[in-house]
Amino acid sequence: MEVFSYERVSGCDDAVRLMREDPASVLLAGGTELANWLKDGIVHPVRLLDINSLPGLDLIETKPDGLRIGALVRLADLAADPKVRSGYPVIPEALSRSASQQLRNTASMGGNLLQRTRCPYFRSQADLPCNKRRAGSGCAALAGADRGQAIFGWSDGCIATHPSDVAVALAALDAEVTLRSPAGTRNVPVTAFYRLPGDEPHRDTAIEPAELITTITVPASSVARRSWYLKVRERRSYEFALVSVAAAVDVDDRSGTIRDVRLALGGVAHGPWRLPAAEDALRGRPVADRSRVLDALEKDFAQARPRRENGFKIELAKRAVVRTIQLAAEIGS
Ligand SMILES: Cc1cc2nc3c(=O)[nH]c(=O)nc-3n(C[C@H](O)[C@H](O)[C@H](O)COP(=O)(O)OP(=O)(O)OC[C@H]3O[C@@H](n4cnc5c(N)ncnc54)[C@H](O)[C@@H]3O)c2cc1C
Repeated sequence: MEVFSYERVSGCDDAVRLMREDPASVLLAGGTELANWLKDGIVHPVRLLDINSLPGLDLIETKPDGLRIGALVRLADLAADPKVRSGYPVIPEALSRSASQQLRNTASMGGNLLQRTRCPYFRSQADLPCNKRRAGSGCAALAGADRGQAIFGWSDGCIATHPSDVAVALAALDAEVTLRSPAGTRNVPVTAFYRLPGDEPHRDTAIEPAELITTITVPASSVARRSWYLKVRERRSYEFALVSVAAAVDVDDRSGTIRDVRLALGGVAHGPWRLPAAEDALRGRPVADRSRVLDALEKDFAQARPRRENGFKIELAKRAVVRTIQLAAEIGS
């Protein structure tokens, strides 16, 4: 039996100070991910710090310069917000495909970004080689079942993918995460928040000990209004992505050409995976010309390194990108 204390904190300064004083403290938001970690022996906290009373972190603010989302905003509340639905449709679409309604009612945005991989070797209660669980023990997935694993950016130490859907949408919209620590605050782009596994696979993100996510900021942009999320999975609901795509596009409706576009993939890497070469190549191309859109993806996909069983993700992801761009472009046209 795990024994730990429980404390409710009422201020952000208290939360980060207590984390600094006792590194074995773990923050508790919705608890939907933490409960699994406790059950599977992934964390062994000495103290749970319940952050649900922290002021101001449950707010959604839509302003002319963008969208601010408090870390304690529940997934269901963000998905239902009318201004978010009309101004940033990729976000509610990604959220509505995440988990179940009951989980979305409880799960927070901060906790969602910090959920850990669904790699079966990482989640196993047996002591299997996993560098995320036990540094230096190896990566069982590299020699084992790799169907769901990464095709981009993996290392000899880890081939896991990150499971958050909304992180992919936020990466496509150039969102930033605000982190608070006893030393002050800093902003990290979502694209840099998720690390490649390299030789430190146990570190999923750029968050440091004693840092608290306070806010996620999405800048206003010409692409946000026509944005969409497509999630491809083994079954229609309550399942993590095999491959997902967030696309945000600004189309000249008279000529039908793409003025600007942002693309991010999920289910293929240790974090959301942007397609910068495709974004450049697509500007000026006709959005309705599927073969030219497909051609524009070649350079980014040349970096893919499939394993034995996950090579299908390359073709699947390419086709999903083409489809998602079309769906995004159709919004309000
Ligand atoms: C059965 C199941 C299916 C799921 N399916 C999906 C899915 O399809 N797509 C998807 O995206 N997600 C899915 N999830 C994940 C779910 O969205 C997460 O469990 C949830 O978002 C985590 O939020 P939480 O508030 O419950 O986090 P918690 O469990 O409270 O915390 C998770 C971690 O984040 C830390 N943390 C929380 N808030 C902060 C903060 N503000 N600052 C710093 N650290 C913080 C905690 O200390 C902990 O380490 C699924 C989960 C389950 C159990």
